[in-house]
Amino acid sequence: MKSKNIFELDPERLATTDEQGNRIYLYPEDVKGKWKDRRSLLYWLLIVIYLVLPWFNINGRPAFLVDLAHREFTFLGGTLHGVLPVLFFLIVASGLFFIGFLTSLLGRVWCGWACPQTVFIQAMFMKIEVLFEGKARQRRELDKAPWSLSKGLRRAGKWLAFAVISLHIAHTLVGYFVGPRELFRITLQAPGDNWTLFVTTMVITAIFLLDFGWFREQFCIIACPYGRMQSVMMDENSLVVAYDVKRGEPRRDPGVIERSAEGDCINCYNCVKVCPTGIDIRRGTQLECIACTQCIDACDDIMTKVGKPTGLIRYSSENELIGKPRKVATVRSGIYVAISLTFVSLFLVFLNASTNLNLVFLRSKVPFTLIDEGRTVVNHFTLKLSHQGSKTYNIDLVVNDPDIAAVTNSHPTIVNVPDKKIVLFLKFPITELESGSRVVQVSAVDSETRAILATKEVTIVGPVR
Ligand code: SF4
Ligand code: SF4
Repeated sequence: MKSKNIFELDPERLATTDEQGNRIYLYPEDVKGKWKDRRSLLYWLLIVIYLVLPWFNINGRPAFLVDLAHREFTFLGGTLHGVLPVLFFLIVASGLFFIGFLTSLLGRVWCGWACPQTVFIQAMFMKIEVLFEGKARQRRELDKAPWSLSKGLRRAGKWLAFAVISLHIAHTLVGYFVGPRELFRITLQAPGDNWTLFVTTMVITAIFLLDFGWFREQFCIIACPYGRMQSVMMDENSLVVAYDVKRGEPRRDPGVIERSAEGDCINCYNCVKVCPTGIDIRRGTQLECIACTQCIDACDDIMTKVGKPTGLIRYSSENELIGKPRKVATVRSGIYVAISLTFVSLFLVFLNASTNLNLVFLRSKVPFTLIDEGRTVVNHFTLKLSHQGSKTYNIDLVVNDPDIAAVTNSHPTIVNVPDKKIVLFLKFPITELESGSRVVQVSAVDSETRAILATKEVTIVGPVR
């Protein structure tokens, strides 16, 4: 027989799907409690860091900038130049395995406490929704109500506020890639002056708007790859938000006022009503649980009211729930942390293995000119310098033939590598060339240590005599 209680979930299908497979929209109730307070504090800290970081300068550089065009990564005043894809891969892979390590220890702590999806929805979008449309019951009734002026105004106000916030979040995200000054300059210009960036920002805004405003828990349940993989990373020692079956069952039957002797669960469904993914945690750890702890606060509140100890739903491991000790250091977590550290080590080895200084000589349209009444030949180049790492080199350019002088536009021969592009002249007596061209070696030498950082072969040309 079909239950009349809308919070009694069908065990055969997702809480957010009806019998026809259509989405059931959720109206999670708000909750108060110590876990909510802790999460709110962290959410706002993360939001402030996210919104402020790209606008903040340290040593004249943005606090955080990913400059894809120049392959530069700036963080808290330090810049890595010429970041190669392999370095990027190593650091991302290390981060992923570190999240795997955290998951094996602390379950989906990322999802509930730090994922932008949860942070923005819980701290901003849900607050706005409650402001315009009221608490859970009012929101549910408003959805069912026919369209009216009041409903239209509430909806319009909510989506307008969502759009403004989404625009701001999207612009901040773009700021991480173009830098604050550039972003500010572009924002003041007409869209037609920067079509690519304008369209990119609008697409990102639309994605945030639809995801945070409407798609919400569906992303966590069906789209997030981490959500799909988390069960592989966890075991019976991982910390999860769990219902204490031994203590809670048998629960009171719905509608029965007088309490029978057994379990502590009074079947109030408050843990279900507050769940942002609509699940009943009393059915055990589920893929849809994002470990947001809303149900812990909801149940603790009820337990306090009925004079029972709190913690019927709490952070625990499967082992602890059946009375076994929880192992913190497990083989699984050890493997994850070892792989993560290996990737970090490889990253550092690649970074420091060499100067990774790269020289590219681009010949000018006019390859050479004759001076000193034709006695001296000057070859013209643009020299592009790039390197990985954060060090700035002062280099001298030295040719393996002492009769050929290397002259640059930054200093006779000294350049700062971050300058990246310099004008270079190779100057030599015309007698150096017999057949119109010759290959010479040009080395970049550290001006302090005199160590050779890189050497390239260059063809010098002149008139055929
Ligand atoms: S079951 Fe509890 S911790 Fe898990 S998503 Fe629902 S409310 Fe959050
Ligand atoms: S909130 Fe606690 S008491 Fe109420 S149904 Fe959930 S587990 Fe049972």
